[in-house]
Amino acid sequence: MPRPAARRPKDSTAAEGNDAALEAGRLLFAGECRFVIGVARIDGLPSDAMPEVAFAGRSNVGKSSLVNALTGRKTLARTSNTPGRTQQLNFFDLGGRLMLVDLPGYGYAKAPKGDVDRWNRLIRMYLKGRVGLRRLCLLIDARHGVKPSDRQVMDMLDEAAVAYQVVLTKTDKLKSGERAERCAAIADEIRKRAAANPEIIASSAVRGDGIAELRAVLASLASAEPLR
Ligand code: GDP
Repeated sequence: MPRPAARRPKDSTAAEGNDAALEAGRLLFAGECRFVIGVARIDGLPSDAMPEVAFAGRSNVGKSSLVNALTGRKTLARTSNTPGRTQQLNFFDLGGRLMLVDLPGYGYAKAPKGDVDRWNRLIRMYLKGRVGLRRLCLLIDARHGVKPSDRQVMDMLDEAAVAYQVVLTKTDKLKSGERAERCAAIADEIRKRAAANPEIIASSAVRGDGIAELRAVLASLASAEPLR
């Protein structure tokens, strides 16, 4: 017997669901956040028993600022004006329910070729071997849009079948019309990419835009109970 079609939720139910997701995100990030380890070599990775979400982006994209805005801590991830200097994967444990991983920035024009090769090797190995990795947030500077080095990383993610989500950063630097155009152009670009989530989150670490929404997305990927 065919099952009856599921009833569409009423608007109020959808809004309640959205509120509940935002609240789950708020609670997750209001709890304990602990720096676990920074690793420069693939053999130093911590256990991947916990669900994990990684953050990647070009140097200076605003990754440290975003991680700090998410966790509400000013100095958790180091922000700097010198791009291309952090070559470590930094692990942060959120209440035993989710591991956040700050990947080293890429695409720094002045980086020596050896550094670029090392980045590629390290990230490829990380992406392949991490069973707990639920999603990668790919940060794109709202002013610059998708650059060739971002496309290379998307290729890598599509190939490794790691689900990823575009998070626009520094949206406070654009007018709302420009922001909408940028989002539409990127949505169009990623439509055909196998592992890309179609939803783009527009964020500003300075104004706090998109932070609650991103927390909600991350909470949906976290374990319901602490795993340690
Ligand atoms: P990372 O190298 O990707 O970790 O980037 P940082 O977080 O260190 O930020 C690079 C630069 O962009 C710094 O000067 C930040 O102050 C600036 N920045 C980061 N996020 C924002 C934002 O949301 N809005 C604006 N206007 N500037 C930002």
